[in-house]
Amino acid sequence: MAKEPWVDQDVCISCGLCTDNVPEVFRFADNGKAEAYDPAGASEDVIQRDAVDVCPVSCIHWR
Ligand code: SF4
Repeated sequence: MAKEPWVDQDVCISCGLCTDNVPEVFRFADNGKAEAYDPAGASEDVIQRDAVDVCPVSCIHWR
């Protein structure tokens, strides 16, 4: 099975980088923190480059 990204919402500071860069995968949840609502919405390379690698608090992980 493919890797899936997930957001540690205890750490997310709601900066909006992942939701702006990869809106096919990330959005803000009702609690104001980012969530990976469609983990397969973009390639692993794009998610890594445009979300995981740029998250200022490194709270996007793979499982
Ligand atoms: S880039 Fe990181 S801190 Fe910013 S909204 Fe996404 S998960 Fe939260």
